[in-house]
Amino acid sequence: MVEPIHISTREEREKWLSEAHYNVFQLKADQVYIDLLTDSGTGAMSDRQWAQMMLGDESYAGATSFYKFEAMVQRIFGMPYVIPTHQGRAAENVLFSLLVKEGDVVPGNAHFDTTKGHIESRKAKAIDVTCDEAHDTQAEVPFKGNVSLEKLERVLQENKGKVPFMVLTVTNNTVGGQPVSMRNIKDTCALCHRYGVPVVMDSARFAENAYFIKTREEGYATKTIKEIALEMYEQADAATMSAKKDAIVNMGGFIATRRKEWFDGAKMFCIPMEGYVTYGGLNGRDLNAIAQGLDENTEFDMLDTRIRQVRHLAERLDEYGIPYQRPAGGHAIFVDADRVLTHVPKEEFPAQTLTCELYLEAGVRGCEIGYVLADRDPVTRENRFGGLDLLRLAIPRRVYTDNHMDVVAAALKNVYDRRESITRGVAIEWEAPLMRHFTVQLRRL
Ligand SMILES: *Cc1c(COP(=O)(O)O)cnc(C)c1O
Repeated sequence: MVEPIHISTREEREKWLSEAHYNVFQLKADQVYIDLLTDSGTGAMSDRQWAQMMLGDESYAGATSFYKFEAMVQRIFGMPYVIPTHQGRAAENVLFSLLVKEGDVVPGNAHFDTTKGHIESRKAKAIDVTCDEAHDTQAEVPFKGNVSLEKLERVLQENKGKVPFMVLTVTNNTVGGQPVSMRNIKDTCALCHRYGVPVVMDSARFAENAYFIKTREEGYATKTIKEIALEMYEQADAATMSAKKDAIVNMGGFIATRRKEWFDGAKMFCIPMEGYVTYGGLNGRDLNAIAQGLDENTEFDMLDTRIRQVRHLAERLDEYGIPYQRPAGGHAIFVDADRVLTHVPKEEFPAQTLTCELYLEAGVRGCEIGYVLADRDPVTRENRFGGLDLLRLAIPRRVYTDNHMDVVAAALKNVYDRRESITRGVAIEWEAPLMRHFTVQLRRL
């Protein structure tokens, strides 16, 4: 499928961005030239996925589409119990409604924003236990998404009886689409299980993670992606999945688990929140498309093509000397805004400022994964400036050509070349108490 895109003028973009309160989520899609806001639900489905859409069984209960979907999830993840949900955060909502109570502590390798939101809104605490290497964007480490076993053990020791599960996110989205090694997955599961704590794998980009295990970790070069995926989940207790990422559909998600009691408990929340347990907020045709997408995207050639495109963009940025989270991750390039806009103070949100500058330069929409997204500390209500401040350029699957990537790189170079002249950032005028980045209203300083 080919879609038209529109070139705009700088004057038009100035006006549109001001109307959007300097928050690119508030732009209209046709005000964007190349859209790298997210890779979530923005991929192009294949001919076989569209063919599956035509075969959707829209029966309310027990549709053939559900059984096709269930069998594929069982085959890829090796878990017997499967509940469909309308997207990843809905899977979290259903499962966490069963498992998370006030006062609980949930460690994880950089919880995704909705994951953290679903923990904190239940008055529980999300503690980051990502390895320290993740926070140095210039360190070339193959598995920067890894869990620090020392940090994790400290949390488990200090919070006995208060940890309902640990969240292991593959790939680690928040620190830059960085993979977790098979060794680290196994060690993390073993450590948690020693403390009687189950492991829930947040699996949005599990196939990309398997690709990096195959290409970077000793002993996996000759294994297939499907074999590696099965091995990744061998010790895990459950998975929550956003099918909008590695199943390449526009909408969808699920919970998979080996725990019958979690399955039975979660079903009771699925029915009022998402719908009956054989459709979970999805159409039969969507379930078919997910099954097909999971099968296709766990093939090496598909992943290799995709991840090489991400690397292509990274190589252009290398040419121009633009710093990003190294090495390039699976779905996006994360530009280190703190190192680009060195004259913009933290309090004025450098990554958000760079996101605006790139849009003004060429109509390219990226996404701030930084201090705005980090929200305020739920107790002190202070801004959290402790993490990374990144501009994410997420690349939709099977949508853009390498030529589009060259345009993005050139636009970013133009901003980079005048970085010294950018000395002021943005200020927050209005914000929501939780997950503020979607609706925040900003002012340019
Ligand atoms: C996207 C994502 C989610 C949430 O999934 P949605 O489908 O957007 O609701 C959860 N975790 C990770 C790691 C994600 O990337």
